[in-house]
Amino acid sequence: MPNVSGGYVWDERFLQYDFGRSHPFTQRSRRSAVRLLEAVLASEGRPSIEHTAEVPVATDEYLESFHQPEYLEFVRRAGRRDGPGYLDRGDTPSFPGCFEASARIAAGASWAFETTHRLNRPTFHPAGGLHHAHPARASGFCVFNDLALAMVAASRSGQKIAYIDIDAHHGDGVMYGLYDSGSVLDIDFHQDGRTLFPGTGFPSEIGEGEGSGLKVNVPIPPGGGDETLLPLFRRLVPPLVRSFRPDLLVLQHGADGHAGDPLARLAYTSKSYDEIDRVVLDLGKELCQSRVVFAGGGGYRPESVVRVFARAGLAALGVELPLGEHPLPGGWRREFEAEWGRPAPSTWIDPEPAGALSRPPPSDYSDELVRELERSLGQPFPRDRDD
Ligand SMILES: [Zn+2]
Repeated sequence: MPNVSGGYVWDERFLQYDFGRSHPFTQRSRRSAVRLLEAVLASEGRPSIEHTAEVPVATDEYLESFHQPEYLEFVRRAGRRDGPGYLDRGDTPSFPGCFEASARIAAGASWAFETTHRLNRPTFHPAGGLHHAHPARASGFCVFNDLALAMVAASRSGQKIAYIDIDAHHGDGVMYGLYDSGSVLDIDFHQDGRTLFPGTGFPSEIGEGEGSGLKVNVPIPPGGGDETLLPLFRRLVPPLVRSFRPDLLVLQHGADGHAGDPLARLAYTSKSYDEIDRVVLDLGKELCQSRVVFAGGGGYRPESVVRVFARAGLAALGVELPLGEHPLPGGWRREFEAEWGRPAPSTWIDPEPAGALSRPPPSDYSDELVRELERSLGQPFPRDRDD
């Protein structure tokens, strides 16, 4: 498979996953990110990239590997019903065709997993990362858990997966859904559950049974930015992933930890996302033949989502861009302005929006948290071999 540097999946029908214009979650911002990615790829002259725009609806048999049949039936009926309703207690509306739209996004993750396996190159699924969906219920704008489903399939074929989640919200559907899985190492960085939905993800939650010690929760205090996230990421992720020796790496790349996101109170910038992308891709190259899947996730400020996701996708596809004054393509900017009715960002640099000041936690926060995690797990963390 010479010269292929990776793959991405975007089917225009992902836009049918649509909770309505007044809802904060929208695949329209994911489409704007894909358009930006494609504009850059075109200007770089990179034809050797796998892409699919034709994703089927996942089968019931596939969906039942994680979700309960009664829940599938509930979603299917809700999608046929006239009039409004909710799939959960009030965050996740039903809509016509919600079963098919959700099942298509689930199949997108399946494509990303199979393609990274076939190419030995990273793949990107910006519409996915719906990490709150539980086996028997929708939650937090997530209907079917595309990544949990794909990880169940991968683990059934004998693979070990390291799943890393940097969304502002705890990936509860993935973590509790696979809490006893010895095939999935799950490391989740999120705004402290005492201050944000879904209110879970504490250091004491370490997995059970064969999964005991493989679920690692890293809460970040509100206001935490790059200077809080990056030292913890550097300290925890490489040694844990190396000692687990995965066959595949998955990064849930939620962009709602970005400064200025309207639903969370973290203050990450592109500096964090760029470094995390690089570390994960390097670990994939070192440990598992570059079998790495980057997925989307949350993100509610279009200006952040488009840049964070486009840069993640480009990194996965082997296109490295300087953060500096590299201007964004003019044609893409006009498209953004037509879609969103607001000025498009002009460069990759995304300074903290006004009013989103990062508040660093106390200087000993990181050490305290690592000690707490070590106490919970009953053993010291493996040290990075670079230490
Ligand atoms: Zn989120």
